[in-house]
Amino acid sequence: MLIAAIELGLRQRTPSMCQIPTYLTQVATGLEKGLSIGVDLGGTNLRVCSVELHGDSTSDILHTQVRIPPELMVAKASHDLFSFIARQIQDFLVKFHLAFIQDAKSDAHDQYFALGFTFSFPVYQSAINSGVLLNWTKGFDIPDTINQDVCQLLQREIDLLELPVRVTALVNDAAGTIISRAYGLPLSRTRPTIGAIFGTGTNGVYLESLSEITKTIDGDYDRSTGKMFMSTEWGSFDNKLSVLPVTPYDTELNEHSVNPGNQMFEKRVSGMFLGELLRLAVLQVYYDDGLGLFRDDTGKSNTDDFNRGAPLHTRWKVDSSILSVAEADNSELLPALREKIHVSFGVPRDSVSVRDAQVVKIIAHAIGTRAARLAGMAVGSVIVQSQLLDETHHVAAGLEATRETIVDVAVDGSVVEHYPGFEQYMRESLRALEQIGVEKESRISIGHAKDGSSVGAAIIALLAAEQVVPNSTHL
Ligand code: ADP
Ligand code: MG
Repeated sequence: MLIAAIELGLRQRTPSMCQIPTYLTQVATGLEKGLSIGVDLGGTNLRVCSVELHGDSTSDILHTQVRIPPELMVAKASHDLFSFIARQIQDFLVKFHLAFIQDAKSDAHDQYFALGFTFSFPVYQSAINSGVLLNWTKGFDIPDTINQDVCQLLQREIDLLELPVRVTALVNDAAGTIISRAYGLPLSRTRPTIGAIFGTGTNGVYLESLSEITKTIDGDYDRSTGKMFMSTEWGSFDNKLSVLPVTPYDTELNEHSVNPGNQMFEKRVSGMFLGELLRLAVLQVYYDDGLGLFRDDTGKSNTDDFNRGAPLHTRWKVDSSILSVAEADNSELLPALREKIHVSFGVPRDSVSVRDAQVVKIIAHAIGTRAARLAGMAVGSVIVQSQLLDETHHVAAGLEATRETIVDVAVDGSVVEHYPGFEQYMRESLRALEQIGVEKESRISIGHAKDGSSVGAAIIALLAAEQVVPNSTHL
């Protein structure tokens, strides 16, 4: 069903899994040279980086990161959020590239930094450097941004600060991850053609043949490669819940989310939701007096002992990092998990017994492994759709293949990075897929591209600057 949804999105404008063209038509070779800026607006963090590519798979990266202030996620006007981003770019440039800004001001040449903007929300792109926001996800809600070009919004704020920066590429985070990994791989290795994000949200991007995309792609793009990276938007897979597993906790989480009925796959897989699922399931056990969770030795309920405003009792207050701690702590007395339960749930330390921690561990494991297996299903479906496992097709596509690796998948996001064994559980799904199986699964490589979405954005900005503004000088 997931494969069918991927295919349908290539033919029609569908309401979910809408297969958005990224306007990125090639993968990095590792030979690129230049200096550019990447900005990554994820769901939780804003990252700014500069990347200097040396043309030999190596690079120098400078990097800052701030948490996005929650009030800006639901700001009254786009200006509030985008001026914040522009100020972060300004701070970054002042800190690391002051001489360049000063030179650019005094220099008669039109010198600027090319900037790639990773905007990890559904946008409809009409060129490599422009795209309008379709809808917010991941808890963001700023109504006047809908249908606006997010590159223009950012450029306007950059110009107000008189920074020598041009937004030359609008980048999907999964696409950025692919390009970042592609640049850094040894030249002899198969290039990644699939990228997947498991962070605040989840999405997958893959390289598709233009001949397979029968719906219209608006605007101009480079047709010479015969390919285009497509964004599956798999977070919205099966919004009707025909095949996804449904527990009472999934139902309650969905009802209290900002977008009930949407992003149903994402609500089972990504970081924004896993902590809340755990909270809801643990709360159910907690309310059952007979089970004695978080009670003292006499079996007395400690309900009154800890604040009703504790995270355990408050929606969306439990961060998904507790699932990683639960999975990682395999000691007998579970000290790390017990401490994390105290910190994350707000349960007093002396009310968290080893047995309580064991209960939380079992539930967290169920939620975490379900997420990873679903993640594997999504990646597997894209691998099948992209036909890269079909070696005849592969040779015809002219990609460099080695016997060891036939498909390379670039991944990024805190969940896949920190949840122990996430990749292994994903691989269980890949092996279980009939069209993949044990032998082919072993020839799929999965590689983490740390900060891939910001670094990749900078590289794509550089590639795009050549196409967008050919007469100007950029670094
Ligand atoms: P973004 O989505 O902004 O790019 P990340 O990839 O860092 O940022 O993902 C942030 C999400 O990952 C948050 O929802 C957070 O709850 C979750 N998260 C952070 N640390 C961990 C961890 N150690 N284990 C599992 N999930 C985590
Ligand atoms: Mg991200």
